[in-house]
Amino acid sequence: MSTEKADIVIIGAGLIGLSSAYHVKNQNPDLDVLVIEKEKTYSQGNTGRSTAGFRDMFSTRVNFMLSHSSIEFYRHVQKDLGHNIDMKYIGYMFLMSRKKVETLEALDNLSKLTRIDIIEQDRLAEISQLNLKLDETESRVLGLDPIEVGVLGRNCGILEIELLSSFYYEQCVKLGVRFKFQSEVKSLEVSPQEPLEYPGEPFLWQKKRIRSIITDVGEIKADRFIITTGAWTKQLLDPLGIDSHMRPKRRDVFQTSGEDIRNFVHSSYEFLNDESVFPFTVLPSHGIYLRPYPKNGSFWVSTSGTTSDQEVGPHFSYDPNDRIEYTVPSGILFENHIAPILKAYLKPYSNFKVSGSWTGYYSLNTQDKTPYIFPALNAIIATGGSGAGVMKADALGRIVSGILTGEEAVSLYDGSRIETDILGVSNRNVGIESLRF
Ligand SMILES: Cc1cc2nc3c(=O)[nH]c(=O)nc-3n(C[C@H](O)[C@H](O)[C@H](O)COP(=O)(O)OP(=O)(O)OC[C@H]3O[C@@H](n4cnc5c(N)ncnc54)[C@H](O)[C@@H]3O)c2cc1C
Repeated sequence: MSTEKADIVIIGAGLIGLSSAYHVKNQNPDLDVLVIEKEKTYSQGNTGRSTAGFRDMFSTRVNFMLSHSSIEFYRHVQKDLGHNIDMKYIGYMFLMSRKKVETLEALDNLSKLTRIDIIEQDRLAEISQLNLKLDETESRVLGLDPIEVGVLGRNCGILEIELLSSFYYEQCVKLGVRFKFQSEVKSLEVSPQEPLEYPGEPFLWQKKRIRSIITDVGEIKADRFIITTGAWTKQLLDPLGIDSHMRPKRRDVFQTSGEDIRNFVHSSYEFLNDESVFPFTVLPSHGIYLRPYPKNGSFWVSTSGTTSDQEVGPHFSYDPNDRIEYTVPSGILFENHIAPILKAYLKPYSNFKVSGSWTGYYSLNTQDKTPYIFPALNAIIATGGSGAGVMKADALGRIVSGILTGEEAVSLYDGSRIETDILGVSNRNVGIESLRF
């Protein structure tokens, strides 16, 4: 078996791994940084399967900081650096009942930090595609809240994930980060910091470190490791007895198309945005959302399922046979679980077809739905994107880099300062996110 060496090995070339590699190398140009990825290229895991929406409409301070600063950086990439990532500020609209909006105390404070508008019912009535008068029996059977208010985040929208990923990848390559694709890490090898060369090491009382990783193409030694394997993190950490604090949760995405859907996607309401594209929209009940894909006039429909009152059913799993590349969405899931809700709320869904679908996995932090970044031995683990890792990835990479160099706090792109242990385990200080669906 061949043996290779690097100063820092990053496992996983999704967006969080790419952002970490970029910020680590940027801050430490002399370090030899090597990224190991099991797929043929970067962002083929859940990054490539995301719906790539972004919003800074979060209730907790930390989620706001992570997303707001990352969005500002992505804007800078597109506007100042001229790397097109097809960022469109179409807005993020949560449709909900008046009762629900009244429980969202966070909105008052948030509206001082970013641009949020409340769209009242008379305005919503102008959106011909919305069904504001639900059938009574249908809404009782399906458990539907009425559409009475739209909470519209304006510093929010969609981007092209391949383009954003290619920005980080190209910058990494320019800075001298090395990439090794098609190399799957099979295990992390732990050894004593000061070996006694005694059989059975490391013992309970010895200080330990990860000495190397074993991949299907050889062993790689490094001083420090950064583990950004998203939904697969448990597979590497469980055998070491290190808790990854996340669980993989399957998510299916359905592309819906047709003439009526195309018109809906491209409908233009100047009070919503000036992009002539319908906002990224979350329906009032059951976490169903619609993400417009203007290039082919479709809506991608999926469920977020990060709230506790839903989603009993899809199991937490990631067994080795349940590989993402072979997992296909279930048509029954769409027909039975999602289609009736779409038809009830949205008039264009009386006539549409499912023209494509794919499956991904959230790396779900089931407790507070906020990412984890924590050190363990000589590794830093960054995972738990919980369905919102793209919109926070730049900030997460900066925090990883700060932990590596022993900083207590780092500056995010928008100039705000954030403590590097805030997303950790022992000093975690994130609160519970109320703006989730
Ligand atoms: C359906 C869906 C919709 C989403 N929508 C959004 C959205 O609209 N907005 C948003 O912000 N976020 C969204 N997300 C979440 C977002 O995709 C993730 O939070 C983010 O992409 C996580 O990035 P990551 O780098 O942690 O993980 P990944 O992109 O999954 O990267 C992990 C990488 O590690 C590699 N890897 C794993 N194990 C090994 C190993 N043993 N050896 C070598 N390589 C390995 C994988 O191949 C993969 O490339 C969505 C997710 C899904 C599934």
